[in-house]
Amino acid sequence: MRRELLSKFQDKDAKMLQFGHHLFMDGKRIEYKGEEALKEIERMIIMPNEIQKDTLGKILSKNGETEYLKKYMGGSRDISDFKRHVPVATYKDFRPYIQRIMNGEDSSLLTGDPITEMLSSSGTSGGEPKLVPSIAEDLDRRTFFYNLILPIMNRYFPGLDDGKVMCLYFVKAERSAPCSLPIRSVLTSYYKSRHFKCRVRIPFHDDTSPDPVILCNDSNQSMYCQLLAGLVHRHQVCRLGAIFASAFLRGVSFLEQKWVNFCDDIRTGRLDQSITDPESRSSMMAILSFPNPTLAKEIEEICSQTSWKGILWRLWPRAKYIEAVLTGSMAQYIPALEFYTEGKIPLISTMYASSECYFGLNLKPFCAPEDVAYTLVPKMGFFEFIPLGENGTLAMDMDEDEEVPKRKLVDLVKVKVGCYYELVVTNFSGLYRYRMGDVLQVTGFHNRAPQFRFICRRNVVLSIDSDKTSEEDLHKSVTVAKKLLEPYDALLAEYTGYADTSSLPGHYVLFWEIVYHNLVTQLDATILQECCIAVEEKLDYVYRRCRTYDKTVGPLEIRVVTPGTFLALMDLFISQGGSINQYKTPRCITSASALELLNANVEASFFSPRYPTWINAVQF
Ligand code: AMP
Repeated sequence: MRRELLSKFQDKDAKMLQFGHHLFMDGKRIEYKGEEALKEIERMIIMPNEIQKDTLGKILSKNGETEYLKKYMGGSRDISDFKRHVPVATYKDFRPYIQRIMNGEDSSLLTGDPITEMLSSSGTSGGEPKLVPSIAEDLDRRTFFYNLILPIMNRYFPGLDDGKVMCLYFVKAERSAPCSLPIRSVLTSYYKSRHFKCRVRIPFHDDTSPDPVILCNDSNQSMYCQLLAGLVHRHQVCRLGAIFASAFLRGVSFLEQKWVNFCDDIRTGRLDQSITDPESRSSMMAILSFPNPTLAKEIEEICSQTSWKGILWRLWPRAKYIEAVLTGSMAQYIPALEFYTEGKIPLISTMYASSECYFGLNLKPFCAPEDVAYTLVPKMGFFEFIPLGENGTLAMDMDEDEEVPKRKLVDLVKVKVGCYYELVVTNFSGLYRYRMGDVLQVTGFHNRAPQFRFICRRNVVLSIDSDKTSEEDLHKSVTVAKKLLEPYDALLAEYTGYADTSSLPGHYVLFWEIVYHNLVTQLDATILQECCIAVEEKLDYVYRRCRTYDKTVGPLEIRVVTPGTFLALMDLFISQGGSINQYKTPRCITSASALELLNANVEASFFSPRYPTWINAVQF
């Protein structure tokens, strides 16, 4: 079996051998090649337990003297002491340590190595973005992780080394902590690092976007230049992508607004005056080195068609796949992407990662987006799991705010197929038994390594009474309801929810942004009312009980918003410090400014016309 696996990975590998590059891992300089990547993947699926033990051992030997670990382990580096004494923790447990480090105290409060930056994650705690410490070596670890992806992809899509990549990447302006450590997003940190700047351009990283354009702080100028560069190289591009599907679709809508300008630039060989960033300008001028009316005409013919169905394969005919996170809350973008690809370019979710730790890879990238499962890379951190109830709810005997008993934690290799867990991570940079808040379900085992489906981020719920709607439940209900729009050539482009308790009883409000593929269509009020009830019918038993029997929840409301509202919502979050790469539409609105923005753009509102079905299933 082992041999079979090895040879399966190696047969596509001959070509990759010549393209290795160097990086550091565990303090050693290693030659990192496709061959080594595939060996690493083989190791991680055959002996995940051994690698996990080794990883935890390394973390403890580096960080055993930190104030945090000493408090619980008294200086021991023993794995069994760690398991026995270190509590399961949340951000609020680490916040005082992080604050002290931000104010100038030593990194040794949390880590053996010096903390080099604070990463701002998309999660919030008490209304503030979470800050995650990071050490220099983390960049090696992330690079190591990225380097595992392409050898996997090349097994399925040979020829990736013969072409260019148009991936939309963005940085965000950074701040400084009082101790002068930079505060930035994990991707900004990576794109500004030597690891990214010195990446080998050939074969796999021949990006269409010049680095100064990726590193431009103005995301509009950056987007303009990245799309323009992608169009100039349209016949060489063999991969498209962004970190999250939402960012990629933002690119498509930007293209819709600006294609005439792009054609002008290409036709004349002159860059639009709106690009003022000097470094972006000069790097783009090198790309637009001569007027190219033929290319401009090709693009104009494609973009001026009335329907943009299939626009992506028409513009980039050699694209082998689009890479972006399409799982979790990103799954709602799949239909829009399928529309723009006409099903001709596969959509691939390659990785599951966070500011705290990069976790998992999709070893079967060709699977349908809804079947994506990630295999955790056991070298990246030490992973444990809190068992959850069915559908990812907390188990009956566990309270939300209560400390999770250490004995409840399950090791990576001990998880069970079909069960739901919350991921708990111990990383190299100061987080120990840290609850990620992500709910995962085990879909199966690849050799000895469990594979996980990303279900949702915990605590993202709508709740009025005793009903508790998870992100996944909301998504499932909306998925059913939005099908009612299809016969009218209408597509639900974006949605979010809000628990409106301003009137009694409170009710769920869904903001829907609908796109019409046929401009003459107008949706009748009854269709949207039917969508309301379709959502309610699909929500869970408790919701329908509250609504129909207890009458503690009022009829669900859909507020249709004007086109572009969700882009404005994204801009709002970005202006408040969010990162364009990491942005995910929140499925539940809690901020007053976001709610105000959505309400200001409501075109019409519709209520559920009747009670959803509810049968008292409890027999006495
Ligand atoms: P951040 O810390 O801002 O980078 O966000 C990390 C979070 O994004 C994770 O904890 C997940 O909730 C979400 N996320 C990352 N990768 C994926 C993925 N492949 N599928 C679904 N959600 C993801």
